[in-house]
Amino acid sequence: MIRKLIDAALGKPHGVDPSRPRIIPAKRHGIHREDISAAALWVTEQLQQAGFSAFIVGGALRDLIVGIPPKDFDVATDATPEQVHALFRRSRIIGRRFQIVHVMKGDIIEVSTFRRAVPEQTGEIAADERGRIISDNAFGTQPQDAVRRDFTINALYYDPCTEMILDYVGGVEDIERRLLRVIGDPQVRFREDPVRMLRAVRLSAKLDFQIETITRSPIASMAHLLNHVPAARVFDEMLKLLLSGHAREGITRLRSEGLHHGILPMLDMVLEQPLGQKFVDLALINTDIRIREGKSVSPGFLFATLFWHDVLSAWNELQARGEQSMPALFQAMDEVMDNMAEKLAIPRRFGTGMKEIWGLQPRFENRSGNKPSRLLAHPRFRAGYDFLLLRCQSGEVDAELGRWWESFQSASEHDRKMMLLHAGPARRRKRRRSPSAGQGK
Ligand code: ATP
Ligand code: MG
Repeated sequence: MIRKLIDAALGKPHGVDPSRPRIIPAKRHGIHREDISAAALWVTEQLQQAGFSAFIVGGALRDLIVGIPPKDFDVATDATPEQVHALFRRSRIIGRRFQIVHVMKGDIIEVSTFRRAVPEQTGEIAADERGRIISDNAFGTQPQDAVRRDFTINALYYDPCTEMILDYVGGVEDIERRLLRVIGDPQVRFREDPVRMLRAVRLSAKLDFQIETITRSPIASMAHLLNHVPAARVFDEMLKLLLSGHAREGITRLRSEGLHHGILPMLDMVLEQPLGQKFVDLALINTDIRIREGKSVSPGFLFATLFWHDVLSAWNELQARGEQSMPALFQAMDEVMDNMAEKLAIPRRFGTGMKEIWGLQPRFENRSGNKPSRLLAHPRFRAGYDFLLLRCQSGEVDAELGRWWESFQSASEHDRKMMLLHAGPARRRKRRRSPSAGQGK
């Protein structure tokens, strides 16, 4: 107990003894060779046969122990990137901040060399004025590699040959207790890399783990450090969260930790109104279901849903100031996109998709003449229509509009004309009843 208190005061994860990892046999951790991808096994074996040490590491082990199919398998070794590259004909060295080797063997297996955390003063690791590490390519030993990782549950090493796990930081125990705990002093580790706070939220939501108290407590006051992380990296991490199959839980936890302020500041405003809350909830639930069913999800669509109520309020404001509907919508879209750009670098290809989906929305209101048929032929019709359905389900738009478009799509040419005939305001409907009022031509 006293030892643990001293360790906690020194910022050490409890039980860390770099010279003596816990050796955990298969019957305790439950992972077997067959659970590991053939490609990762092959890479590990090749490295071991060449005289290097090599282990399966990281998220895959954690996921296997929890019972979730891993996304990918990573390998860690004492071979340098050059040595790994020399060993595998189909491989390449990638990355600057962090050199790793991609070995192509059907799948891509990421092979990283053991690294150590180097104190800033030595100059081996470049850190910015806030202590954020901007380059770390100092190689190290396996125990050093373990403690430079972010969370205890991510710092396990599995040797497929012996089927044993080496655990330097009590990670297996934390997985069993369903606890996400940072390795070392959370304040130091979050300052070195503020994205670790986002990872804490994403992984805790994905695994349904608690963030351990000491790890959690500095997050709210350190959230602002995310403002100094390149917006593209924040975007990548947010995308991982949204496409994890646990987006709803992830966004909820992001907000309860106060981490959204610098990334999605509009969330408070959007989620505090019942319509906005319902809309975002429905969108995230739909996304999670699609991902879990193995279906694709469009990031542009997803971000369009998150920011829609922000666009709506800017749009309404502009119209209240006398702007015309369509120009006001486009201006509102630009304002929202400009505001978000400094926080979250949404790649242009997604940004264009978002604007198209938003820009189509008023066109669904128009059910006369040949406009519906033209809209149906629009290349982004499907995305626009799915978005409209969410608006209907959330209560923002009359559900009848969604039903009309559903029937219109499946109707015959003749029935479509009939539908147009009966649509629109009464005054116009009267006019269309006249024999000369040709529709849909
Ligand atoms: P998943 O792949 O399920 O998203 P993961 O934990 O495998 O989760 P990766 O981004 O694939 O995440 O990282 C692989 C491993 O690298 C992690 O398990 C962790 O040990 C280490 N790692 C990743 N990001 C960081 C970081 N910012 N700081 C320290 N270690 C990290
Ligand atoms: Mg991974």
